[in-house]
Amino acid sequence: MNLRIGWLYGHEMNIYGDRGNVLALAHRAKWRGIPSEIVTIGIGQAIAGQAIDLFFWGGGQDREQISVAADLSGDKGRDLKAAIEDGVPILAVCGGYQLLGHYYRPHGEADLPGISALNVTSEAGSERFIGNVVIDAPEFGTLVGFENHSGLTFLGNGVQPLGKVRVGHGNNGRDRQEGARYKNAIGCYLHGSLLPKNPVLADWLISAALERKHGSVDLPSLDDAVETRAHDQVVRRALKLAR
Ligand code: GLN
Repeated sequence: MNLRIGWLYGHEMNIYGDRGNVLALAHRAKWRGIPSEIVTIGIGQAIAGQAIDLFFWGGGQDREQISVAADLSGDKGRDLKAAIEDGVPILAVCGGYQLLGHYYRPHGEADLPGISALNVTSEAGSERFIGNVVIDAPEFGTLVGFENHSGLTFLGNGVQPLGKVRVGHGNNGRDRQEGARYKNAIGCYLHGSLLPKNPVLADWLISAALERKHGSVDLPSLDDAVETRAHDQVVRRALKLAR
């Protein structure tokens, strides 16, 4: 049993500590004796034939999104969408999240086409949302992260929000929703990095990837005392600052 992690645009879209998500996935597999391999898939590098079990796609500024959107405009975008439709798990944060949808519309620019894997659309707003975010996610409990985006994302039919915003702005600062869920795909605005402080979500992604490849998997539990302490401390601080 092993885990091939596809790190999409690890050089072009990797801001606000997002690489910590890839490290958390690899370490949480290794700590259970499951070998993992991180495969960076950048501009000009194919997805087809890579036998990726689980994707991560981090955030990036508008200018990186322009070159990445172009890179995904042909077979590569179709291959990624097909993998998501086939149940390959993906966690996409902020700029990556936006390009999982139909388009991202930067300020005063033409729409950047997404891969339409998620029925969502995004457009740059007039305000930049920066700060801690705490959400209540039905499947994962309380999740905590950090947002830094001007993009506003709106969910269409067939897509559920990841959770309800308790602190912060989330998808668009209007509907109190954050993130999007579709099959085994999760898009969200939660930098931080997200997974080290939210081990439940990290393990859900690992389990979904291994179950798709090997059938039912019972991941042994880990001692998450440090992760839980970090999670709870940031939640307390975010709630206190929000008062
Ligand atoms: N450029 C996008 C926005 O500002 C994404 C930014 C990011 O990935 N943090 O909304």
